[in-house]
Amino acid sequence: MAEELFVCKSFDCYLMKIKNYINGELVDPASNTFLDNINPSTGEVYSFIPDSDERDVELAVRAAAAAFAGWSNLPVAKRSDILLKIASLIDLNLDRLALAESVDQGKPLLVSKTVDIPRARDNFHFYATAAIHLSTEAHATENTAINYTLRQPVGIAGCISPWNLPLYLFTWKIAPALASGNCVVAKPSEITPMTAFLLSEICIEAGLPKGVLNIVHGLGSKAGAAIVSHPGIHAVSFTGGTKTGEWIARTAGPMFKKLSLELGGKNPNLVFADCNFEDAVKTSVNAAFSNQGEICLCGSRIFIEQKIYDRFKEAFIKRVSTLKVGDPFKEENKMGAIVSKQHMEKILSYIELAKQEGGKILYGGKQLMLDGQNKNGFFIEPTVIEGLAYDCRTNQEEIFGPVVTLTPFETEDEVLQYANSTQYGLAATVWTENLSRAHRVAARLQSGIVWINCWLLRDLRTPFGGMKSSGVGREGGFEALRFFTEEKNVCIKL
Ligand code: NAD
Repeated sequence: MAEELFVCKSFDCYLMKIKNYINGELVDPASNTFLDNINPSTGEVYSFIPDSDERDVELAVRAAAAAFAGWSNLPVAKRSDILLKIASLIDLNLDRLALAESVDQGKPLLVSKTVDIPRARDNFHFYATAAIHLSTEAHATENTAINYTLRQPVGIAGCISPWNLPLYLFTWKIAPALASGNCVVAKPSEITPMTAFLLSEICIEAGLPKGVLNIVHGLGSKAGAAIVSHPGIHAVSFTGGTKTGEWIARTAGPMFKKLSLELGGKNPNLVFADCNFEDAVKTSVNAAFSNQGEICLCGSRIFIEQKIYDRFKEAFIKRVSTLKVGDPFKEENKMGAIVSKQHMEKILSYIELAKQEGGKILYGGKQLMLDGQNKNGFFIEPTVIEGLAYDCRTNQEEIFGPVVTLTPFETEDEVLQYANSTQYGLAATVWTENLSRAHRVAARLQSGIVWINCWLLRDLRTPFGGMKSSGVGREGGFEALRFFTEEKNVCIKL
């Protein structure tokens, strides 16, 4: 990585311009205008991001189209070698990428170092190898014919990702798209563009042929919308909010593009009285407040069996009170900054709404004002609320921040009704030592992922995604490789 493109050497960052990565080169946007990129832990502008539009997307699509024949015809083992090289360069640049992620997103450096960046490496590693093992089916039609299925890349894939796990989710789409022979036009969130920019440098260093991956930075309403509606893009893989997903489905649907949508969540965490109490408390705190509650899988509605409600509440709050919030670069802080001022204000407005709806704030509830270099940063105390109806807005709408509600229940049927009452269906956690109950409840939860006695225990081979308004389709494992390929049946008469 070029020294002059270094993001941050210490906490003080250069004011640098991020560039688009189109046709193998780092270029300014056609508009030659740039947006501010803000460090959420200081509230200060620390770099600039291309304000790209349909002209940049057009160039990216042309570059991808020109690269497609070469890339898709390359033997899969050769594609795999290049992707493995990218994986090892991510590893080599772990410290730099982790620092950049935490400056850009506000998350504790330890989280970037141990979760986000290693997972970005794993995404490339996983799909570089998985693509080699993808097989297709054959069907023998008795004495008449043999059918076999060809699985071919869709062409050019559009990959659009959000700000909460920037490089982690960006690469979760790009890696399978590239591994299965597609060329890609990708856009990271305009709120957290930095590690995607650094990835473009890594791709150049790894020798990824020009045009195979193109990264266009900018606003969703401009650059993102241009990707979704471009007729040359044949599949769109999107992770973000449900409202944006609706717009994308409305736009891409009539163009008959393949669509994968990973959307919002409002995940229930069901704690039965027969749980392993210590584990349930510890992991529930983690599930509520990891990454400042800005993970689509966070358990933000905790339902606790009445018999242990008071005991759980007390132990939960005791543990939450040990969570230090502050400068993401100080090791003692378990929670860093909220990603933006706008998002912080949204979260605070939901805390106000919870009060209006009759909620009692048991812990936190306020913006945290720090001093020194963090005096203008965006911080919120971990917030615990009780006394709300399961169907009030606070318990139905996605807040996506460090806010959790506690609600007692008496019976299994009752808690399932609460858990399944939202429009979302992404992830759920169940705490019980009763095996039969675990299976029974897992089967009845309307949720794409169910964790029993754990949270965020991931195996990249498993299907990942949500039902209801949490999404369409699944990522992960061979599912993603299937999404980025077209199936073609070839029938040979005997
Ligand atoms: P968002 O929908 O505002 O933005 C996501 C991405 O879409 C960004 O890159 C943005 O620029 C782009 N975008 C916005 N409008 C667009 C448009 N009209 N056309 C094309 N692209 C557009 O979401 P966000 O605020 O960045 O992320 C938070 C949301 O993401 C939450 O709802 C969270 O639950 C969800 N999320 C879901 C998952 C999952 O796997 N299901 C994972 C992480 C985050």
